[in-house]
Amino acid sequence: MLKFYGPEILDIATRYSQVQQRIVKACLDAGRKPDSIELLAVGKRHPAAAIDALYQLGQRLFGESYVRETVDKQRELTAHDIEWHLVGPLQSNKTRLAAAHFHWVHSVDRAKLITRLAEQRPGHLPALNVLVQVNIDDEAQKAGIAPNAVFELAELIVQQPRLSLRGLMAIPNPSRSAARRLQSLREMRALFDRLARRYSAVNKPSIDTLSLGMSADLEAAVAAGTTMVRIGTDLFGPRS
Ligand SMILES: *Cc1c(COP(=O)(O)O)cnc(C)c1O
Repeated sequence: MLKFYGPEILDIATRYSQVQQRIVKACLDAGRKPDSIELLAVGKRHPAAAIDALYQLGQRLFGESYVRETVDKQRELTAHDIEWHLVGPLQSNKTRLAAAHFHWVHSVDRAKLITRLAEQRPGHLPALNVLVQVNIDDEAQKAGIAPNAVFELAELIVQQPRLSLRGLMAIPNPSRSAARRLQSLREMRALFDRLARRYSAVNKPSIDTLSLGMSADLEAAVAAGTTMVRIGTDLFGPRS
């Protein structure tokens, strides 16, 4: 059973409405329609009860960074109609669990993950939605592939019937200047547009998802053309 989530649910309700308002405001500023942005609530290192609280307020898309932690939470959230997204780096020895427990994987960045996820996606489930993670600022310690390698991986993904290529994901280097971060976000949008054009005729469903923007750069990501923002801290509060 879920532990009753006490007065904190009011904080979550307040933050949820603030984040939704930020998205609407950013869309107005950018001349975009608010319904062109999906909100992914990233609940990593927050308890299942916190996810339940946000679910009760209407949220359905949830992101997680750790496969094991997600499986544990799902055991507590069996009555919930949640779409689960893996946003954290995926180790090869976790692909079987990931293929069975997520609807989306945002962190596909090498051929080995593609073959394993495709082989291990259970037959009774629809194709697994995948995004290619791009290391847009060429950071040594960060997951993701170089922008010029995206098309090679995309080609491997579209050959796999058990995978559905939906777009790209990135985490720009947060320590750079605001102008430089905006430039990286825009480069991601340009790459995404090229990918969508390349596969518009053959790929179903289409390349429709650019996963870009976290608590600190939500507005910049909307301005640059994101379609899905991944928000943790500003919805759930600081992580323990
Ligand atoms: C933790 C995490 C987020 C959420 O970050 P916040 O800054 O807490 O909003 C988004 N994307 C990824 C990949 C993450 O690991």
